[in-house]
Amino acid sequence: GRKLIVGGNWKCNGTLEQVKAIVDHLNDAHVPCPNHIEVVIAPPSCYLPILKNTLRSDFNLAAQNCWTGKGGAFTGEISVEMLMNMNVPWVILGHSERRTLLGESDQMVADKVAYALSQGMKVILCCGETLEQREKNETNAVIARQIKAVAEKVQSWGNIVIAYEPIWAIGTGKVATPQQAQETHAAIRAWLSQNVGEAVAQQIRIQYGGSVSAANCKELGSQPDIDGFLVGGASLKPEFVDILNAKI
Ligand code: 13P
Repeated sequence: GRKLIVGGNWKCNGTLEQVKAIVDHLNDAHVPCPNHIEVVIAPPSCYLPILKNTLRSDFNLAAQNCWTGKGGAFTGEISVEMLMNMNVPWVILGHSERRTLLGESDQMVADKVAYALSQGMKVILCCGETLEQREKNETNAVIARQIKAVAEKVQSWGNIVIAYEPIWAIGTGKVATPQQAQETHAAIRAWLSQNVGEAVAQQIRIQYGGSVSAANCKELGSQPDIDGFLVGGASLKPEFVDILNAKI
């Protein structure tokens, strides 16, 4: 069994007041972790220290990005060393918003993944296709290209979780059907089996992301190759707790 892992990606949202309210709500919630589920909360980086001090200790923290190597003269960036220094164990890398809006290439994402892993961090590696690519039947090829760039730079996959996030489903309310998500998750596992190894393919956890809500999470979560979710909008709302309990 692969342990369920659910992430809350707050993206660039939240006032200090809202952050406190969300943390209070999460701290009061009944969630069967860490035994049955792993929870990873990814606030904007400026809020990481506040969450470190106030969020329940059975929930883990993630940054939403990090630099490709050691810190230095890289204005606006956050280094892996800083995150490690703050005891932030996870980092989300390759999110489509960073790939498309900030111009991160497959190579840059792969460099970030390799460096973060080399320093002992755990990585949620995002991948996913545009609507145009899906309509042209390029979904599996696009994802293979994104994952291959990482496979060429990392030796061990034990500290990687993959998040499959179809771009057309992110923030749109247009969730992938459980069948669409399952099919792509299975394709990701098949690619890993052929190109990395069968053990990695079976052990790696693959989250689905894209308009996940309390209403759709149960059916998505019942698919054999869906091992959790990466939640955006709904992670800022009380219903996030229902999503955490989707498979219980
Ligand atoms: P939404 O849940 O808002 O669609 O965002 C998904 C996402 O991008 C999580 O990383």
